[in-house]
Amino acid sequence: MENETVSKNFIEQIIEKDLAEGTYKEICTRFPPEPNGYLHIGHAKSILLNYGLAQKYHGRFNMRFDDTNPTKEKVEFVESIKEDIQWLGADWEDRLYFASDYFEQMYEYAVKLIKKGKAYVCDLSPEEIREYRGTLTEPGKNSPYRERTVEENLKLFEEMREGKYQDGEKVLRAKIDMASSNINMRDPIIYRVAHMTHHRTGDKWCIYPMYDFAHPIEDAIEGVTHSICTLEFEDHRPLYDWVVRECEFENPPKQIEFAKLYLTNVVTGKRYIKKLVEDGIVDGWDDPRLVSIAALRRRGFTPDSIKMFVELCGVSKANSSVDYAMLEYCIREDLKLKCPRMMAVLNPVKLVIDNYPENETEYLDAPNNLENEALGSRKVPFGRELYIEREDFMEEPPKKYFRMFPGNEVRLMNAYFVTCTGCEKDENGNVTVIHATYDPASKGGNSPDGRKVKGTIHWVSAKEAIQAECRLYENIIDETKGVYNEDGSLNLNPNSLTVLKDCFLEPNLKDAKAYDSFQFVRNGFFCVDSHDSKPDALVFNRIVSLKSSFKLPKA
Ligand code: ATP
Ligand code: MG
Repeated sequence: MENETVSKNFIEQIIEKDLAEGTYKEICTRFPPEPNGYLHIGHAKSILLNYGLAQKYHGRFNMRFDDTNPTKEKVEFVESIKEDIQWLGADWEDRLYFASDYFEQMYEYAVKLIKKGKAYVCDLSPEEIREYRGTLTEPGKNSPYRERTVEENLKLFEEMREGKYQDGEKVLRAKIDMASSNINMRDPIIYRVAHMTHHRTGDKWCIYPMYDFAHPIEDAIEGVTHSICTLEFEDHRPLYDWVVRECEFENPPKQIEFAKLYLTNVVTGKRYIKKLVEDGIVDGWDDPRLVSIAALRRRGFTPDSIKMFVELCGVSKANSSVDYAMLEYCIREDLKLKCPRMMAVLNPVKLVIDNYPENETEYLDAPNNLENEALGSRKVPFGRELYIEREDFMEEPPKKYFRMFPGNEVRLMNAYFVTCTGCEKDENGNVTVIHATYDPASKGGNSPDGRKVKGTIHWVSAKEAIQAECRLYENIIDETKGVYNEDGSLNLNPNSLTVLKDCFLEPNLKDAKAYDSFQFVRNGFFCVDSHDSKPDALVFNRIVSLKSSFKLPKA
């Protein structure tokens, strides 16, 4: 029902028109990352958008590495990108492509342009090319090499390929219009000399195609119909169209631009993440404070939560920034019925039930998720000595404090009513042990006689509890001051990571494995860390706390 009332985004409208008019019989989209870093949440939007459109219109989705710039590209990134896309659930089936596989064809298309008089070899230096290009208000001037003959251009271009020239000595340029109001059309460079080893083609090539020439050809070769990219390429579209037209592709693709996804006060750009990694500020590309896809996965986000997030963001032509709280909302929504709710004490203090038999352990029933009965229940050990959260006790409580204080009765979740009788302290006045008595008639946490308690607190049995580390996160950027300092450096939040080493968990968590997620009652959603957790020394990442200030915008 709901889906029928949601209006189609502008890309869907374009596709439906193209299909209705027969411009394309079947659509084909692609995701074309440059393997020069890890993917981030913004890329997830592009991946899910392209994959989602192919699915919705029963078309094809291609995975293509845009590996035309060997300087920054690495095999490590190719592998991480594939893993991230698979994890998101975007399935390219057998359509995995590399732009570098088309180098020979691209070369042939460049030759074709030369033969048509549409491209020429230019000897101007990079500085001269810039000078000749003109400005936004002034037209450029023609290169003195612009009128070389086809024969001369063919010979020189071949020599470029053969390695006769140094980097920067010669380039191949498209011959378009140096007076165009669009600077991208002023005889753009389409091939450059670069004596570099490519991670796939090795030393086979010493000339490499430029993005604006290579990308439309890659799309056209693969039969892509809708080449979806972000807004900064809008001014490049006339050049995209020029390339596919002059190379004479039949049924050429069209470029469509949409706005990038930005998160308020969160670093997304590869460049910045790379700097944080290289400066050792974070623990690698998948540090759970980052929003790379690998980091989100390690933190405990699910593909479904990211899908929900991307859908809520929508597709638009106007740049805007989305609050991180919306991403948190999505993971809470996704996990709240899926995860069992376990007891874990993050900041423990001992509680002794003085009238409970010594050396006795009983196993109490605890429902795994009150909102989802299908998750069943489990047994939790209870004994004379427990741990509770330090903040659940106050010797001298303020008004409206309903948890433990001397003389007050509270419910131990799923266990018993207990009444606090006092506490012990060390020489510095820190509480070391809390004492209480329990009412055996209140087993299960149920009132035996209708008397009410206002507070319910969680606990773990000291004897059976397992010790574990929990890591709590805040935004890596100090939100109150904006992303950058005046000197351009990032405004880091010193509290972005808190490590709690002495947490106590109920023993049912002892077999938790990497990526398993749980709700720790009252403390939030936690996920077993895939790097550092060991069977006898578990480490959990807090995915998100339970409280939210985020409200879903009204449709
Ligand atoms: P960044 O500079 O953020 O690292 P990029 O554009 O250099 O990103 P590419 O590997 O070139 O990264 O991008 C692959 C695809 O992902 C492109 O189609 C690009 O438009 C898209 N993309 C990149 N960043 C975003 C974003 N923030 N939101 C949506 N799509 C994005
Ligand atoms: Mg890029």
